[in-house]
This record gives sequence, C-alpha cells and structure tokens, in this order.
Amino acid sequence: MLADKDRIFTNIYGFQDAGLASARARGTWERTKEFIDKGHDWIINEVKASGLRGRGGAGFPTGLKWSFMPKADTRPSYLVINADESEPGSCKDREIMRHEPHVLIEGALVACYAMRAHVCYIYLRGEYIRERERLQAAVDEAYAARLIGKDNIHGWDLEVVLHHGAGAYICGEETAMLESLEGKKGQPRLKPPFPANVGLYGAPTTVNNVESIAVVPTILRRGSGWFSALGKPNNTGTKLFQISGHVNQPCVVEEEMGIPLRELLDRHCGGVRGGWDNLLAVIPGGSSMPLLPAAQCQDLTLDFDTLSKLKSGMGTAAIIVMDKSTDIIKAFARIAYFYKHESCGQCTPCREGTGWMWRVLERMAKGQAEKREIDLLFDVTKQIEGHTICALGEAAAWPVQGLIRNFRHVIEERIDQYQAAHKRAAE
Ligand code: SF4
Repeated sequence: MLADKDRIFTNIYGFQDAGLASARARGTWERTKEFIDKGHDWIINEVKASGLRGRGGAGFPTGLKWSFMPKADTRPSYLVINADESEPGSCKDREIMRHEPHVLIEGALVACYAMRAHVCYIYLRGEYIRERERLQAAVDEAYAARLIGKDNIHGWDLEVVLHHGAGAYICGEETAMLESLEGKKGQPRLKPPFPANVGLYGAPTTVNNVESIAVVPTILRRGSGWFSALGKPNNTGTKLFQISGHVNQPCVVEEEMGIPLRELLDRHCGGVRGGWDNLLAVIPGGSSMPLLPAAQCQDLTLDFDTLSKLKSGMGTAAIIVMDKSTDIIKAFARIAYFYKHESCGQCTPCREGTGWMWRVLERMAKGQAEKREIDLLFDVTKQIEGHTICALGEAAAWPVQGLIRNFRHVIEERIDQYQAAHKRAAE
C-alpha cells in the first residue's frame, strides 16, 4: 500500500483549497527554477530514468516521447495536454484539474522547457465546465504571480491556453485533437508523420495526458530513483486508479503501480458488492479494454505488463467492476453502441463495423441470433482491428473479443433459451 509520504496528489479529494497559496504550502512550485537551471536534457533524462509511462492509456515512456522533439528547429514547438478524458470509466484528470490545478501548471512549465516549447494548450473535454473554471483561475493566478507568462521568474516564457472541446470522444485521439485545436473537424490524421515532426499548425508537438504532466515536478523534486523504486520494474511509480461499478464505495485513489486488484477493491472501495465471490468480471482500464473474468482476477496485479499478458490492458486504470447481477451481453452491447456513436466515420471498417457489431450484440443480448454468428462476430472484430486510421477501431473491437473469449457460453445459453421459448410458444 502506498504510504502517505509518497503521495504525489495530496489534495486530490479537495479537502484543501486549490488556490496558489494552498498549493505552495503543499510544496507545489518549490525549487522549480532550480530544475530549469539544470537544463533541458537533465529534465528529460530524469523523466526517462524514473520509468514514467504515459498515463493516458498507451503507456508509452514519457521521457522517450519528449526526446523525439527536435532540439533545433526554426518552427515553434508546442505541448498539448490532453484533458479530454472521455473514456467511459475514466475520471482522474478532472480531479487533478479541480483540486490540484497548480501541480498541472507547474508540470506544463517544466515539460515545455524540456521540449523547448513556449506555448502549451490544454484541451479540455466539452463537459468539463467547472474543471475549466478552476483551472483557468489557477492559470490566472500563475500569470499574476509571474510563475508563467512573459519574463516570468523562472526565465522561460510560457503561454498556457485552455481550449474547450465540444464533447466528441474522438478528439481525445492525439491527431484529432490537433485538428480540433486548429479549428477543423476533429478527425484523426494518418501517421506518419507523427506530431513530434508535424503536429499542431505543422510544427513539432507533443501530446501528453494530464496525469503524465502533473507527476513530473514531484519526480524532479524527489528524484527519479524515488519514483522508480515504487511499483514494479517497467511499471514504476504511483497511479490514480478510478474504480466504478459494483463496489461498495466507488472512488479515485492514488496507489502504487502493480497493486493487487483485490487489495485495491477491499482497501479503498469497501469490496465488491455482495462480497468477492459475487464478482463476475472486471474491465481493468476503461471501456475499450477487454474484460477479465473473476477467475483471472483472484491474484491479478494492476500494471501494464501483467494486463497485456492477459490480453487486456492497463489503459487509464479506470476499473469497472461487474458483479453477478450484470447482464454481460447487454453491457457490451451498450459499450459497442458508444463506439458506434463516436466513430468519426473516416474509415470503412470502423464506420460500418462498429454499427454492425452493435446490432448483432443487441440481438445476442435477447438470444435472437444463431450460434455460428458468434464466430462471425469475432471475425468482424479482426477485420476492424489493425485496419483503421486510429485506435478507435481497436477500442471498439477489443471489448467484443474479450466478451467472446470469456463468455461465449453465456451467449450460447441465451440463444438456446430463446430458441427453446420460441419452440414452446410455437407448439
Ligand atoms: Fe475515425 Fe474510426 Fe477511422 Fe478512427 S478508426 S479515424 S474513429 S473511422
């Protein structure tokens, strides 16, 4: 269990004020100038040495990503902070923006300096009205105190601009976000070129998740060795876990990477509703990650490597718990509807396939299907996966694959029940 002294987010529940004076009392903006004086490469190397992997879902090493930015380029560089947080189940970045906004702004300054950027855009999810107000107030405070802005006390000019999305899930995809920021329709771009070469306004850009940026100042203050000693090798540090669904107390909590699922649920969430034996399945990383049945949850540890070995993923660590009262087919039909609704429509496999999967799952939830359609459905997921411009194709296909891999028997039973009832009625 994470000791209180190792918490990065000490005001994540908002028990204290989010303003500058209070943030400073918690240690934010302490020694920031010292880090900047140590140089661009020192910061990038510390972040690399900490083992920090991106907290937005893909888990790509943050320091390595920063090192892709050009060191000398006539074009300006940009940092775009992804605060779109639209993955169903995810609700951690909003807590940072509401209660720890200065941690994020300090992280933005340090990250921008490391990547030689003078402008940082924070792209917020359309529905995050209060979060934006709180964050904007903190940005204004930081300007007034000359922590950021032109000729600030840190010696690195930085403009921070907040930008509100209009509520489209796909704008959380980094290149769709750049399109949206440029005032265009939020549709993903083909890669390559990658944003580090051709990003916002055609200039070098790095897109990072809110949590990835917010943890950096503490890593620099306490040292990369401190961060990398937490968690497991290759899965270091602390993480904001978000637990929703059938637990007694859903919550957002900072814990060590690699914490066992059962410990997390029992210690922080009051356990599974109806007890551990009432657990049916868990989605470990937001709705796009394949589910894990209860049998795989017993000794499950929550980290990137363990979950990918089980053909699932850590994602944003948004853990959706489902007890035995769940109609698992219906639940996944609903998730399929979400991805159908949010597909931007550029690629045929995603545009057509997401709707196709949803319609089949709706029928399967009622048992109105043929058993051979289960394999057909799996085959369609494979035709979507890897054949689209962006990862929404996978996000839509993987949950369905997880359902079929683990709950095929439930789908078959539902079909049998429907056919038996139909037969009885006919007789
Ligand atoms: Fe759009 Fe889907 Fe293609 Fe992504 S995979 S670009 S969301 S159609």
